[in-house]
Amino acid sequence: MAMYLLEQGITPLVIEKETFPRYHIGESMTGEAGNLLRALGLEDLLVRNAHPRKQGVNVVARNGNSWWVPVMKRNDEHQLEPAQTWQVRRSDFDRDMMAETIRRGAKWISGRAMQVRRSGDGTVTGAQVKCDDGSTVEVESEVLVDASGQFTWLAHQGVTSAKNPGRYDKQIAIFSQVRNTIRGEGWDGKDRSKHPDNTYIFYADQYHWAWFIPLDDDVVSVGVVSPSSYFSSKGESREEFLRRELAELNPDMTRRLKDLTLIEEARAIPNYSYHITEFTGKGWMCIGDTHRFIDPIFSFGLYVSMKEAQFAAPAIKRYLAGEGRDLPNPFIDHMRRMEGAIDHLQDLIDGFWGASTSFAYLVNNPRTREQLIDLFAGRIYDVTPESHPAILELRALAEKARNSGVLWGEDRRGSGFLAASA
Ligand SMILES: Cc1cc2nc3c(=O)[nH]c(=O)nc-3n(C[C@H](O)[C@H](O)[C@H](O)COP(=O)(O)OP(=O)(O)OC[C@H]3O[C@@H](n4cnc5c(N)ncnc54)[C@H](O)[C@@H]3O)c2cc1C
Repeated sequence: MAMYLLEQGITPLVIEKETFPRYHIGESMTGEAGNLLRALGLEDLLVRNAHPRKQGVNVVARNGNSWWVPVMKRNDEHQLEPAQTWQVRRSDFDRDMMAETIRRGAKWISGRAMQVRRSGDGTVTGAQVKCDDGSTVEVESEVLVDASGQFTWLAHQGVTSAKNPGRYDKQIAIFSQVRNTIRGEGWDGKDRSKHPDNTYIFYADQYHWAWFIPLDDDVVSVGVVSPSSYFSSKGESREEFLRRELAELNPDMTRRLKDLTLIEEARAIPNYSYHITEFTGKGWMCIGDTHRFIDPIFSFGLYVSMKEAQFAAPAIKRYLAGEGRDLPNPFIDHMRRMEGAIDHLQDLIDGFWGASTSFAYLVNNPRTREQLIDLFAGRIYDVTPESHPAILELRALAEKARNSGVLWGEDRRGSGFLAASA
């Protein structure tokens, strides 16, 4: 966000409570995320730091059936061309992004945003910040961007609309890192699906899956996602659960993980799925995880956060120049545009969990394959279903699953597993 504001000639003040480097989950990027970083002039940095070069994702069912989506970009003639993106260890990547942000001219406070400040008509005017040195400062803002991720700071401050549970909020993710894995089997420099830096998604049953994301030549990030009730029913520690699941969940994954020694603490994130529908207003907006997160399965998080920042910066510039100052919500167009795009991701993910066999058919069907490749890359903004047969097919798939009770309901607070009762 700060880099995009600087590109617009706006000097931002960043408030960050953590000291970098620090651990963070969210390591695999979509193709368009890679393009955003290139356009920001960060490719040399990523190459210098030898982040793995992801060529695509292999999705493998328990019975061994699999499908492959390569990273492809659209060239000037709108043809698909092979491309690559990156997998990043977030402690390194975020540290480098922060350093680069400051190098480019952003101002910086090391501290935690505490109380939001508002004027009589509700306009957000700033924040009280508790600095790392113990002092408290009042920061005045013309526009305050909440980029606090899953902390959803402005939602907790009562500024946004309600934070409702998303469809996947009864899930839990448990993750760590391992070494000594089988990667790049059969890689001959040509068949990109076999490249050693690719992501693997292994799944067992509905809502029960695992990721395999290379972080360097040796270390692989591994995580298991399942209904929280399944985790609780096992009565195991996080580490016991993760190690047993990695050994059992999917035979191809078991084969690839030769050594189940965890080289990182086994961490957990439950209830990561939520949706805030009103996330902009006078003097404020939310970007990225701070207003909506569906599910990590196809690695859209980092991309959506960065892309929303790219769209937000010119909107903020126009607001600072006086546009929309009299409107109750000057950023409403931006908000609707962002929501429309994430709705496509909701259909994609719901379509997969609602009908994984039909979904695989769409991925491999020549009629829809190229557009599915576009969606997986992140080309989800300003595409209308009418011009996009794959979105129409996905929407139909997702709606059928939603209406037939195959999927959990939208608002499931306390309602348990609707799927189980279907
Ligand atoms: C299990 C799991 C796996 C995931 N895997 C992937 C993946 O493979 N690929 C992918 O792209 N995404 C993935 N994600 C999503 C990804 O983590 C996020 O989408 C991504 O980090 C972008 O989020 P963000 O920029 O909105 O927030 P974050 O990256 O979380 O950044 C928020 C920042 O705000 C700071 N902050 C919070 N509160 C305050 C405060 N009050 N004051 C000051 N600072 C504050 C935090 O310290 C943090 O640095 C995954 C998510 C989960 C839950």
